[in-house]
Amino acid sequence: MAAMPPDPLPTEAPTAPSSAMAVGESVIEEAASPAWTYTVSVRELCEFTAKRGDLDRRFTPSATALEGLMGQNAVTQRRGQDYETEIALDTTCGPLRVRGRADGYDPRRRCLEEIKTIRGHPDEIPQNRRLLHWAQLQTYGALFCRVRSLSEVALALVYFDIASQSEVELRQVFGAEELENVLSERCAAFLAWARQEARHREARDAALRDLAFPQHSFRAGQRDLAEAVYKSAANGRCLLAQAPTGIGKTVGTLFPLLRAMPVHGIDKLAYLTCKGTGRLAALEALDDLRSGTTGQALRVLTLVPKDEGCEHPDKACHGDACPLARGFYDRLPAARQEAVAQGWLDAQAQRQVALRHGVCPYYLGQELVRWADVLVGDVNHLFDIKGLLWGLSQALDWKLAVLVDEAHNLVERARRMYSAELRISQVRAAAQTAPGAVRGALDALAQEAEELVVDTDAPYEVLDELPDRFVQALQTAAGALSEHFNQRPLSVGSLLDFHFELQRYLTLVEALSDHSLFDVQTFLGARAVIASDAEPGPAAGDAALCVRNVAPACFLRRRFAAVNSVTLFSATLAPPAYAVHLLGLPGNTAWIDVPPAFPAEHLNVRVAEGISTRFADRERTLHRLVAVIARQFDEHPGNYLAFFSSFDYLEKAAALLATLRPDIPQWRQERRMNSGARAAFLARFQPHGEGIGFAVLGGVFAEGVDLPGSLLIGAFIATLGLPPVSETQRLTQSRLDQLFGAGHGYADLVPAMQRVVQAAGRVLRTPEDRGWLWLLDDRYRRPDVVELLPSWWRLPGTTLGRDGSSAAFGSWSPVVPAGS
Ligand code: SF4
Repeated sequence: MAAMPPDPLPTEAPTAPSSAMAVGESVIEEAASPAWTYTVSVRELCEFTAKRGDLDRRFTPSATALEGLMGQNAVTQRRGQDYETEIALDTTCGPLRVRGRADGYDPRRRCLEEIKTIRGHPDEIPQNRRLLHWAQLQTYGALFCRVRSLSEVALALVYFDIASQSEVELRQVFGAEELENVLSERCAAFLAWARQEARHREARDAALRDLAFPQHSFRAGQRDLAEAVYKSAANGRCLLAQAPTGIGKTVGTLFPLLRAMPVHGIDKLAYLTCKGTGRLAALEALDDLRSGTTGQALRVLTLVPKDEGCEHPDKACHGDACPLARGFYDRLPAARQEAVAQGWLDAQAQRQVALRHGVCPYYLGQELVRWADVLVGDVNHLFDIKGLLWGLSQALDWKLAVLVDEAHNLVERARRMYSAELRISQVRAAAQTAPGAVRGALDALAQEAEELVVDTDAPYEVLDELPDRFVQALQTAAGALSEHFNQRPLSVGSLLDFHFELQRYLTLVEALSDHSLFDVQTFLGARAVIASDAEPGPAAGDAALCVRNVAPACFLRRRFAAVNSVTLFSATLAPPAYAVHLLGLPGNTAWIDVPPAFPAEHLNVRVAEGISTRFADRERTLHRLVAVIARQFDEHPGNYLAFFSSFDYLEKAAALLATLRPDIPQWRQERRMNSGARAAFLARFQPHGEGIGFAVLGGVFAEGVDLPGSLLIGAFIATLGLPPVSETQRLTQSRLDQLFGAGHGYADLVPAMQRVVQAAGRVLRTPEDRGWLWLLDDRYRRPDVVELLPSWWRLPGTTLGRDGSSAAFGSWSPVVPAGS
């Protein structure tokens, strides 16, 4: 593993900083020198230089990656014994090194072949895509003639229809000189860009080597965090970093990774968040850091969701419907050039550049991903089944370093990425709009789904295994829809949307294993209606068949292993074994628990006596609970947050306080608050103000809310944060016990305590803050609960919290970051 530089994290800029001019000049010289080279794949070269015309995101028949391999095998097996496959080609064209693998060469026909597995007929492939296929084949042809010293070669584009197993061959003979000219033109068209990119990389790396910490000095604990992040990137391993509020985690993780980029050849850094709120802080820190680089030589791109980047939400993404898709690839080069020159590409900057060039902002952003240095986005970009960053990093072989903010949410986010639900009403509705053959398959699927519902004994039931008949009906329906859309390329509409949903559902059903539950949930007496053969209608109720992931580890393991390094950081990650086991982190993952930046005495922790917030005890203890809140307010007037397990409980407590103490100002979180209402809730916390904001634990005000100083002086937590009792919860617990061993609290206590500690983290935001934390439930004295509380909390009358470090919360021996 790569060695650490002697001092990777200086707090000040070097004494003799390079001027922008000096660095720029040396880079230009080097990039223009004869020794300079740039490696590009045939595919990238052609996509860059030969993609023209409209953007078209309508459905077109395409084969899956697996079908692509099967198609290629099928074609090559039909050729003679002397047929060559997977021919590695590598040549230089000036400073460009062009590499690729041609699919096959038939020596008897002296024919180089490019095999494209498709669904349907090649006439249905859009013209600009067919031209791109020819461009790739001609480039392979030029490389092949060079390597084999041929004067001419036949080139054949072979379209293989996976459904009918038939081939259509488009064949043409080319002279070597003609192909050489094509290659030279392509390389010349790419060369200026390649030179620019090489200069940029050198300038970027030179600037990052000199990057100084943007603040005067590291805060307490921040340097430990930064060093751990740097070492993990240097050693190419994952890191779990628990670090308290107020130490500057965002800059404390970004700075060391930026410093590691040039030293360890890291191509890109991805800063991913579990909730959108963290992105703003990341962009602010990056703006600061980038301002400190020579020549601002760092390209930062925000990955904008489609609904935010789209200018015409009422239109479809193709040239006939949307003006920003028409001629997209013709105008892309100029837009791309302006964007990379600009370097700072948040959502607004992408939009401005895109609209100046008449292209779609969202798809411009997607194109820019490969040319940016730092990507700021959501965790789904890497961890989702079809995550953009995952796909590109694999295809383009990036060395990618990743930071995941608010990482305590990743287990829950990943579970949702690998869960899916199918409602019988959805299938029935799709069948009504589907044509004949598809309708039959969808009706059969609805019938099999209904059989499943009738066979269940309760409104909610988890099935140990799925009946073959249901899976077959699902496969048949998905196949019929595929076939239908293969015959009708460029379709749009609700049936196509259902087709995609069904494909995803089928993928997860076929991947079902002990990591997921399959449950059947019936609503409004649906079973009775189905069993009685009554005409189904809106009043008949519905049923949902759900693949519910409980342990996403098996889906994520490969991703953690494939990228250079992933740092998961949060104020609440203990016990580390929970994240390691549930997410599938590698065994050599490092763990760091950074102590708080303030003395423990700054947080006055109290456990209320004689209060139980168990459902059955709430009425009985409500007066006592409200009395504790009122007394604390009287003794130390100021702004407080009071967290409850549900809106119902919150309302009862707030109403009682309002009755008993109308003099205490209060405001309440409500269900489904929009951004304006949320802002109004937070605006009630004024400097040196007095009042109590009532909120739910795990809700929008329980994390990511920053109320330093007198804006917030204390919090009450009137719940243990355990999930509500339900059959799903019981079965989730039993499955996790089965996978990881019983009694670790992975299904309830661990995530509950993470929520509690997150909410408590609202109180102290800066090293100067002081405040009160009231734990309003006598279960906070239970040893297994105390065990999971932060080790620096001083709980009167109990032993100290231990961050879940005992073996009770999972056996996994964390690696210290200093290990190599
Ligand atoms: S503007 Fe909207 S509709 Fe048009 S191409 Fe972009 S995403 Fe599609």
